[in-house]
Amino acid sequence: MHQGSKTKESARGPAAGGNDAASSAFDDLGVAVSCGEPLAHHTWLGLGGAAAYFCEPVDVEALGRVVRRCRDRGIPLRVIGGGSNVLVSAAGFPGMVVRLSAASFCGIEVQKPAVVAGAGAKLVHVVSAAVQAGLAGLETLVDVPGTVGGALVGNAGGHGGDIGACVQSVTVMRPDGSVEVREGARLAFESRWSNLDDCVVIGCRLELDAESPEQLTKRMQKQWIVGRAQQPSGTRAVAMMFKDPLGATAEALIVQAGARDMRSGDAAVYAPHANYVVAGSQCTSDDVRTLVEAVRARVRERLGVELTPQVDVW
Ligand SMILES: Cc1cc2nc3c(=O)[nH]c(=O)nc-3n(C[C@H](O)[C@H](O)[C@H](O)COP(=O)(O)OP(=O)(O)OC[C@H]3O[C@@H](n4cnc5c(N)ncnc54)[C@H](O)[C@@H]3O)c2cc1C
Repeated sequence: MHQGSKTKESARGPAAGGNDAASSAFDDLGVAVSCGEPLAHHTWLGLGGAAAYFCEPVDVEALGRVVRRCRDRGIPLRVIGGGSNVLVSAAGFPGMVVRLSAASFCGIEVQKPAVVAGAGAKLVHVVSAAVQAGLAGLETLVDVPGTVGGALVGNAGGHGGDIGACVQSVTVMRPDGSVEVREGARLAFESRWSNLDDCVVIGCRLELDAESPEQLTKRMQKQWIVGRAQQPSGTRAVAMMFKDPLGATAEALIVQAGARDMRSGDAAVYAPHANYVVAGSQCTSDDVRTLVEAVRARVRERLGVELTPQVDVW
């Protein structure tokens, strides 16, 4: 969880301040549901309003009860992973936000040559477990923040490959609360995209290749150093703005378009690595959203390229 309560927006939003009547939609389910949870506490940017409802179910059965209830009552539902790719609006989220932080969603099991991981597990822990077991394929993802669930949904990756290439199957929960295992042609992964946008991801099985742990450790450490050097330092209040278009990097295009020094309110492009936005202490969600749109417009006007936003706006 990321501490981001610096924001002046964080106490606002649907049901902010708590509301017992509001929780009655869930209070017969045996699941602890809070109202008005500040989502800024759960995102890297540390911005935005509250969730009308928030819970961290203890297991799949409890998650199923919440998911079903949301469907039955027409309450919108979102999952928050590590919060490294989410920008919450000042109005917050008028529905249920679920976080898969309970131990039953965070397991990591090596079953050579595969690794089975829960959606709530941190990606970096899964990468280390695979490397220690002498299993190759994930080591280039060691510097990607967030959880396995977030990585699968957005097909996290970089120049060394993406997680989708290693996926054998994904276990998901459908809106009716039923669980299914998807594999083969039922799974699609493209650049920073997957077709896992209609479900709650619960876990996955990653098929990897045997290699010497020593070689893998060296590769992972190199990637860690290179990757971290390419990320903003000194603050976690950051987000990646755009997906890399085919044959180019968003960073290079932003620099070429002269957008490296742009800012909006207290949100600024991080000049040394220009595909990141950095939120200052007085930043609002609107500052970030306005800046992302302004940078996108500048690249469009100067270079004729339409960048696709990476950060998911709630
Ligand atoms: C400093 C920094 C560096 C980054 N570097 C990279 C990089 O190299 N490559 C890269 O691809 N990305 C990168 N990102 C973006 C981000 O880290 C990735 O997209 C990451 O995979 C998001 O994971 P998360 O758990 O934080 O997801 P979140 O931000 O919590 O969620 C992202 C989306 O996934 C959905 N989601 C999360 N978990 C589930 C689930 N279990 N079921 C259903 N939906 C779910 C959320 O609802 C949301 O829509 C970077 C971001 C930062 C801030």
